[in-house]
Amino acid sequence: QKERMAKDNIIFDLISKEKERQTKGIELIASENFVSNQVMEAMGSVLTNKYAEGLPGKRYYGGCEVVDEVENIAIDRIKELFGATWANVQPHSGAQANAAVMLACLKPGDKILGFDLSHGGHLTHGSTVNFSGKLYQPSFYGVEKETGLIDWNKVEDTAKKERPKMIICGASAYSRDWDYAKLREIADAVGALLLADISHPSGLIARGLLNDPIEHCHIVTTTTHKTLRGPRGGLIMMGQDFENPWGLKTPKGETKMMSQLLDGGVFPGTQGGPLEHVIAAKAVAFGEALSDDYMNYIVQVKKNAAAMASAFVKKGYNLISGGTDNHLMLIDLRSKGLTGKLAEAALGHADITINKNMVPFDDRSPFVTSGMRVGTAAITSRGLVEDDMLRIVELIDAVLMNPENEENLSSVKKEVNHWMSSYPLFKA
Ligand code: PLP
Repeated sequence: QKERMAKDNIIFDLISKEKERQTKGIELIASENFVSNQVMEAMGSVLTNKYAEGLPGKRYYGGCEVVDEVENIAIDRIKELFGATWANVQPHSGAQANAAVMLACLKPGDKILGFDLSHGGHLTHGSTVNFSGKLYQPSFYGVEKETGLIDWNKVEDTAKKERPKMIICGASAYSRDWDYAKLREIADAVGALLLADISHPSGLIARGLLNDPIEHCHIVTTTTHKTLRGPRGGLIMMGQDFENPWGLKTPKGETKMMSQLLDGGVFPGTQGGPLEHVIAAKAVAFGEALSDDYMNYIVQVKKNAAAMASAFVKKGYNLISGGTDNHLMLIDLRSKGLTGKLAEAALGHADITINKNMVPFDDRSPFVTSGMRVGTAAITSRGLVEDDMLRIVELIDAVLMNPENEENLSSVKKEVNHWMSSYPLFKA
């Protein structure tokens, strides 16, 4: 028994190793960030012990008085942050949030229209390897070859031709803003529901730095761990609740509201018990995102991305769409004679973490790719500013100009490690 309760050094040594990796390197994966100590503290709390199927005040378990308060605070804060009137904070991830919405709003075989995965969309927007492409009939819109931008008139043409039940906007690798008002016009014209998945830029949207989907889209989903800087997780919101378009009634004969369907899509539709420790950490992160400190942070994320994009362009890199409006950029490496796979590996050896990424009209497989995606959410949390972006681009360029020379990679790595040693990982 004593042995069983001993500290698991194998795992805790690995956690220390991962902490060292995160501390020593430059983190440029656009979907990652560093959470505060209090977000981690909430995640590692006794709330992990609690079962709480259902919603605050309507649980299937006893002893939920405290977690009810926690979950209500998370809901209230996210509603305040986005100006939403309804939210469900239980989805375990962004993919789960989208699954819950689709289960609530669609029948198997219904048509959906999403942004092409290979142009920057997400798996859950209709990819054939994902539930969304297996259960529903997907069609896609993409970017223009010449501009790297979405042509909204073409989206309209496709919507009118396909007549989907749901149009999904939002992306994992699109560096420009979205015209939610135009998309709503298109959705209304074909009788579709409009879902915005703002997983990537949600922090910028929350603080008014990008167009606001809440007032135009029927439903909005997001992850909580990217620019929003919370624990790994997802959530669903609506600007306005509305009567379900299918005339569904409750057992008492009352019209079902969309909020009821979406709550049901999460539990019991796609999940069991909510992770109340993660919901507590979400509440903490949403509280932080309402603060002046976070406002300064997210403004800096955008400034850093703009500075980094223009530094890449000056060095002759080909950015899809020529730049960025948000926290990320997608770089086509074909003009440099490199693959995404090689760039990711070489930069990794120099402790600079990025991810290889398909670029629009890519001729390579997703395992090789012709591009890389970089973002500034994480490095900005470490305190880096615009001038530092120029230095990072210099370091990346030094690696990519000579990606197979070990001496070159280890000299950049040394500089990266020395530089990062002055920037603590977590906020005090
Ligand atoms: N939606 C978008 C646009 C994303 O970029 C991602 C994550 O990369 C997700 C959904 C899925 O989020 P998760 O990994 O939490 O399931």
